Order: sequence, then C-alpha cells, then structure tokens
Amino acid sequence: MRIVLMGPPGAGKGTQARRLSESTGMKHLSTGDMLRAEVASGSELGLLAKEFMDRGDLVPDSNIIAMIQQHIDHPAGILLDGFPRTVVQAKALDEALEQTTTPVDQVIHMSVDIDELVKRLSNRALCGDCQTPYSLESDPPSQPGICDNCGGSVAVRVDDRPEAVTHRMKVYQDLTAPVLDYYKSHGDVVEIVATGSPDEVFEKLSQTIKSGMPGVNAN
Ligand code: AMP
Repeated sequence: MRIVLMGPPGAGKGTQARRLSESTGMKHLSTGDMLRAEVASGSELGLLAKEFMDRGDLVPDSNIIAMIQQHIDHPAGILLDGFPRTVVQAKALDEALEQTTTPVDQVIHMSVDIDELVKRLSNRALCGDCQTPYSLESDPPSQPGICDNCGGSVAVRVDDRPEAVTHRMKVYQDLTAPVLDYYKSHGDVVEIVATGSPDEVFEKLSQTIKSGMPGVNAN
C-alpha cells in the first residue's frame, strides 16, 4: 500500500506520518528528513540542497527523484511525506510505480488555515539527530534544547524563520497545490481538516487509512 500525505508546510505531515508509521508498520518516507540527513552528512547532495532549503525553495526535481527512486518499494507499504511536491515529481512517481505491483492507493490532503500554519511554524522546533518535532509552546522538550527521544539537540529550523515561511507558503501555492489537481484529475483525494489536537488529527487519519477509502490509481 502506498499513501501520499499532502499539505502545506506546518500542516503536521511529519508528526502524523511518524505516528501512522508506528501504528501501521508502514515505512515513513520523508524527503525533507532525507535531505536534512544529507545536509548533516556534508554529502554533495546535502551541500547543493542546503542553499535551496535555507531559502525555502524546492530542491531541483532531478535530485529529488534520483534520491527517492530506490526507496519507493517496501513490503509493509510506504507513507510518503513531502513527496511529490511538483507535478513533475508526481509523474515520475507514477512512472516508477508502473514497474511495481502497487500504485498510489490513497492521496490524503491535510488542510489547515494559513494563519494557524504561520503560528505553528514559528513555534516549531526539531531534533537535529532523530527529527522528533516539538512545539515550543504546547509540547516543548523536558529540558530546553535537548531531545527527549535521543538526547540530540533541538532547534528551530532555519527555514521556519518568518521570511522563509512566507516564501515556502508561496512555493506551496505555486508548485505543490497543482499536484493536488493532478491527483484529483486521476481519482479521489481524501480531504482531512487538520486543525485540532494532534491526537484528533491522528484519529481522523487512522480512520481514513483503515476504511481503505478508494484512492488514486496511478495507471
Ligand atoms: P519538509 O521537511 O518536508 O518541510 O522539507 C524541508 C525542505 O526540503 C523543503 O522546504 C524543500 O526545500 C526541501 N524538500 C523536501 N521535500 C522536497 C521535494 N519533494 N521536492 C523539493 N524539495 C523538497
């Protein structure tokens, strides 16, 4: 089973995908996490990606497609978080999945009010090692700056600064919103209103996935 979790920056895709991966056993694939690991390792891709990421721009499609290609098959199924982010990436995913047995089964769109998103992002911090997300306002680490999960260092992401956030919202509208139209033209996109507590949103997502609502067939 393959599920694409979509939504603007700050909608909670990463938090929810992590929990859903734990509850379903599906593999969580986040291109943002993969890129941050490349940046941390100082690889060639990491050096290239960092410039785009710090500005809030998208990393070029060719780099992203090459990076994710070998990961899109997993026996327990995959939860895609942050990919595809352009129509070019969505088409590349469809083409790659034509070689495998299962297409994209469900596309879930997590929608949140823009003012709420900007507020959430300004409060968000992340562990640089294990990527556990925190809300500095409602769910901070027990010791400031130290990850409860792995003891790594927790900090606000460079691309969560207000200038970068505004730019990322525009990039989402211009380049990623058309991906939803692309999927809608192929089949269903399940809409989830992702306001409310993380537990409430998790319940809605779990029900949606469990009910196995008809999703998008990539063929
Ligand atoms: P995220 O953690 O998903 O918000 O991603 C953080 C940053 O990584 C984004 O703002 C982009 O710069 C980059 N990124 C993540 N996924 C993609 C993707 N599918 N295509 C292009 N850039 C991406």
